[in-house]
Amino acid sequence: MSAVLDTATPAQGDTAPVQTGLRWINRYARLGAAYATALAPQPLPTSHPPYWVGQSRAVGDLLGLTPDWTASSELLAALSGNAPLAGSAPVATVYSGHQFGVWAGQLGDGRALLLGEVLGETENGLEIQLKGAGRTPYSRMGDGRAVLRSSIREFLASEAMHALGVPTTRALCVTGSDAPVRRETIEIAAVVTRVAPSFIRFGHFEHFAAREQIDELRVLADYVIERYYPECRTTDAYQGNAYAALLAAVSERTAVLLGHWQAVGFCHGVMNTDNMSILGLTLDYGPYQFLDGYDPGHICNHSDTAGRYAYARQPNVAYWNLHALAQALLPLIEDETLAQAAVDVYRERFPLELDARYRAKLGLRTEQADDRALLEATLRVLAQERTDYTIFWRRLSRHVADSATDKPGSAGAQNLRDLFIDTTAFDAWLRRYEARLSQENAQDSANLMLRVNPKFVLRNWLGEQAIRQARDKDYTGVARLLTLLERPFDEHPGFEAEAGFPPDWASSIEISCSS
Ligand code: AMP
Ligand code: MG
Repeated sequence: MSAVLDTATPAQGDTAPVQTGLRWINRYARLGAAYATALAPQPLPTSHPPYWVGQSRAVGDLLGLTPDWTASSELLAALSGNAPLAGSAPVATVYSGHQFGVWAGQLGDGRALLLGEVLGETENGLEIQLKGAGRTPYSRMGDGRAVLRSSIREFLASEAMHALGVPTTRALCVTGSDAPVRRETIEIAAVVTRVAPSFIRFGHFEHFAAREQIDELRVLADYVIERYYPECRTTDAYQGNAYAALLAAVSERTAVLLGHWQAVGFCHGVMNTDNMSILGLTLDYGPYQFLDGYDPGHICNHSDTAGRYAYARQPNVAYWNLHALAQALLPLIEDETLAQAAVDVYRERFPLELDARYRAKLGLRTEQADDRALLEATLRVLAQERTDYTIFWRRLSRHVADSATDKPGSAGAQNLRDLFIDTTAFDAWLRRYEARLSQENAQDSANLMLRVNPKFVLRNWLGEQAIRQARDKDYTGVARLLTLLERPFDEHPGFEAEAGFPPDWASSIEISCSS
């Protein structure tokens, strides 16, 4: 983190509140001062007016914004932190956590501000956060800001993951401002507007448990149960212990999440407990990466020298993190055996989730005893030559689709075989796979595969290209990528390069925690 920039600016209160028609309910803020500090976003210097960098119409609709929001200069100011939003009640929340396996003590929203909660389209309540809107009591040595590159990465990844069917926080927009932000170099300031039913993390619970503030811990757990897991209150499971049931429910959702991550080839990069969502959402996009070549040991975070968060370790890390949550909830559960049983829901559920995801990727709609062995053989073939993960699955899907229709002139398995140098090993695998697939309805398999094996994922180089353009004030790259990633299973003719192998220069991209 860097030194704090001097951002001498007018206070936000000098500006008239922006009206939006959003219906605010702001429930988290009402938990009180133990949980959050009320404060307004810190405006950027007026010498550097904000501008739009990226916008998601889908998220605007979800919130219930009128379609003209994308052209509103008032909303641009408000979502850059330069003007208050009428009805919002901004707070920075406090949490703690384990970072890289070590207790880090108090962290908190150091640069995110929870503007409040609105009754969106779903009536369930959606929280809106500004990330990068200035210092808070939890900023520690940081400047409270976010930079353009990491903000674009978070914005695009949120929407890409959602479109892939992966549970995630969403992103409404990114705004930029040429106010300088100091990182390794001077960078452009940006703010991401994030949206989720809740931004509560494992670390929120760890915070109160570590301080032995058991009453506050209980209020938080009750709040989460009432709002997001009401079934925990009435279940007979776990001896009717609602807090154990909560832990089990979070373990289950985390298992579902990790099943998705592994299957889609997503590497989070910083699975600290303060980045783990209590709702099982992908949260805090930093140095994440979608795999290019399939390498189980892949480390996407340049700062993670020990590889704690390497791709293949993610499922175990999630289990470790759930133990940290269990430890935090123990004063409420009051029974170690129950807590352990609740966490072990993860251990039972994760392999089932993974199997389900991979079965779909392979087009297997029926279940057979040898399927797991087939899957393992598939991943072994991919790992051997670090075959491009996304391209392999998509070409396999196309191959199955072509074979199903017996398309004249189809390239057979050649496109797929071209991905391998050791074609003997590949051919042996393909024979085995085709023998298994022959027991399925080929057309149904093909349809399924083309729905779960994306043509487009947000590879680092694609994001990087859009970021470079945005630094030159050309935001069309961000919009174009969003269009592709919002429909990642569609063909999008004319965008073959974006679906192709990473260019040579991509190997020089290094993504660290700096953001
Ligand atoms: P992260 O690695 O982004 O998940 O952040 C870990 C912790 O550091 C959180 O408490 C963040 O709020 C805080 N943090 C990260 N960057 C900054 C920054 N530039 N200013 C203030 N706090 C920050
Ligand atoms: Mg974080």
